[in-house]
Amino acid sequence: MRKKIVAGNWKMNKTLTESKVLIKELKKATKGIKLKNTRVIIAPCYVNLQHAVKKTKNGIIEVASQNMHQATSGAYTGEVSADMLLDIGVKTVILGHSERRDHFGEIDGSLTEKVNTAIGNNLEVIFCFGEQLEDREANNHFKIIEAQLKNVLFHLEANSLQQIVLAYEPVWAIGTGKTASADQAQEMHAFIRGLFSEKYGTETANTISILYGGSVKPANAEEIFSKPDVDGGLIGGASLNANDFAAIIKAI
Ligand code: PEP
Repeated sequence: MRKKIVAGNWKMNKTLTESKVLIKELKKATKGIKLKNTRVIIAPCYVNLQHAVKKTKNGIIEVASQNMHQATSGAYTGEVSADMLLDIGVKTVILGHSERRDHFGEIDGSLTEKVNTAIGNNLEVIFCFGEQLEDREANNHFKIIEAQLKNVLFHLEANSLQQIVLAYEPVWAIGTGKTASADQAQEMHAFIRGLFSEKYGTETANTISILYGGSVKPANAEEIFSKPDVDGGLIGGASLNANDFAAIIKAI
């Protein structure tokens, strides 16, 4: 049975001091939650990862990086490699977030290299993708999503998909307060699973966790998570508040 996942993307928020407080609050807020087939992940900024790994050891919370460079090492000022993440105990990396694509020029080519590097180093990838508002308004959203997935993931062998978590994040719903309706999310998630089913077979497609991201809050989480092809969420803003994040975890 595929896993359910609630992952919090902290983005460029929280100093180390603040991160220590949030992790403490999060541990308190999630204490006693009975997780059934569900993983909880947080993704603090690079400089807070090591501390987060240390403080969440042996608990229910896992730690992911928000990004990674595709090269193994070298003259890439300001970048972080797979080895660096693994060495501090980080086993999961978010790749392809729309903010990385929009502000830092990440494109399918570099993302393919990043995915390959992550897979080759036994890192798990939370691969983000999603359409812009104009794509949806022009009814191009299925085509865009299909291209984003095919361009970056469809060269992988079926067994590598065990290291891939998908995060469908319509860009128009990220940080805007606008959420895709639960039905819109389900429609897209079923389409995505169908693409994987066509390429890799239904059995493999059914093992892939597909998260929804875009203004998920305690108030809408339960409805979104109730849909059969929605296996959890990638949460931005609401993951910065321990009680809200815990409420979203409870909604799964
Ligand atoms: C995100 O950044 O991945 C995200 C979904 O943000 P928010 O929940 O704030 O819309």
